[in-house]
Amino acid sequence: MNQGRPLPPKTPSAEYARSVASELPALYKLGIVGASQIARMTHQAAVKLGITPRLLAEDLHDSAALAAPAAVFSHPDALAAFAESCEVITFEHERLDLGLLQRLEDDGTVIRPGTRTVRAAFDKMHQRRVLLNRGFPVPAFAEVRGPDDLLDFSGVYGWPLVLKSVRSGEPGDRGVWIVENAQEALRVMSEQSSRQLMVEEYLAIVKELVLVLARRPGGSARCYPLVELSIDDGAIKEIRAPAAVGHHVATESRELSLRLADELEAVGILAVELFLTTNGLIINELAARPHNAGHWTIEGAPTSQFENHVRAVLDLPLGPTWATAPAIVTINVMGGLEFIDPADHLPEALTVEGAQIHLYGKQPLPGRKLGHVTAIGDDMAQAQSLARRAEAALMGRRAW
Ligand code: ADP
Repeated sequence: MNQGRPLPPKTPSAEYARSVASELPALYKLGIVGASQIARMTHQAAVKLGITPRLLAEDLHDSAALAAPAAVFSHPDALAAFAESCEVITFEHERLDLGLLQRLEDDGTVIRPGTRTVRAAFDKMHQRRVLLNRGFPVPAFAEVRGPDDLLDFSGVYGWPLVLKSVRSGEPGDRGVWIVENAQEALRVMSEQSSRQLMVEEYLAIVKELVLVLARRPGGSARCYPLVELSIDDGAIKEIRAPAAVGHHVATESRELSLRLADELEAVGILAVELFLTTNGLIINELAARPHNAGHWTIEGAPTSQFENHVRAVLDLPLGPTWATAPAIVTINVMGGLEFIDPADHLPEALTVEGAQIHLYGKQPLPGRKLGHVTAIGDDMAQAQSLARRAEAALMGRRAW
């Protein structure tokens, strides 16, 4: 119904455009800090619910900024100004100024997840300490302030060891080095002298698993089925849902992750990366945002992780999280050394019927996530073959 507003003229004048612009809500319900593919898919899920989030991008060519209203991050004060224009703000990455975030939260800005959770996700050393103090299983670890710390640790745990940067790096910068001996370790330390490092025991990993859950401010939560990862050169290559593990491992993963979410008062999606070892489950890492291991939920669950993140941070009822098929496989489409743009191969990939293609609109660079494909099957081999064919087609390889 037209509530008294004049009908638009056939050729809208600048004056008309200004009058419409002045009617736009001054306050966005939801603001997302970051504008890469996670923000892009979260934005799409919010739009479905009639919510148009605003983004704080670093560049107008960021994946989500190409598809959504975005402010550009050009000044350290941008986050504070951005927060003022939103009812609730959430994040797609953890590379944030925690001091500023804390001040905003203290001043009443609604930040979800809150600073407490973000700090645990951002700083691996802090995360390990918090988890250890609360009795969660984590690898043995130590802070590395100099060679002596490292050599003391190797005296107890031997070699190889794992050196890690305490802070999350930029996308594509893993900040993880498996070192075989003292010489290699000291070389990494001198190359990374500007970064704060920690050392961890090297675990014999049987499977790499991720439990993705959504949690509302009041504490109600839902878990997605546990998934299993294939890692290639330190990066996630393939995600299989559900993980091929026994009932006991699936239940323990769920219980550990829910307890952890309660301890951290997590809100939104929390992804808990787990190692299954011969000594049981060990928590590797947390991400307080939608995670690569949950992309399959767009087609494979009644409510995607992105929609449940939006619902949770806005304190709306969560949707069901079960898998809608017996086997679901997601394969990441990664930039290689050779310049191949998957967008150029979209027509071939679309002939792989049943595979769901997602491209993020990003320029190809080696090691960069450019998209993903998801396939659903009656069994894992069928879903895997479909997803692999679609990924191969996107990368200009013939896989059939
Ligand atoms: P990222 O921040 O890249 O996710 P992770 O801590 O998950 O970094 O490490 C990347 C990969 O390195 C893991 O998926 C795993 O294969 C290997 N890794 C990490 N920590 C250990 C460990 N303590 N023992 C053995 N392998 C490890």
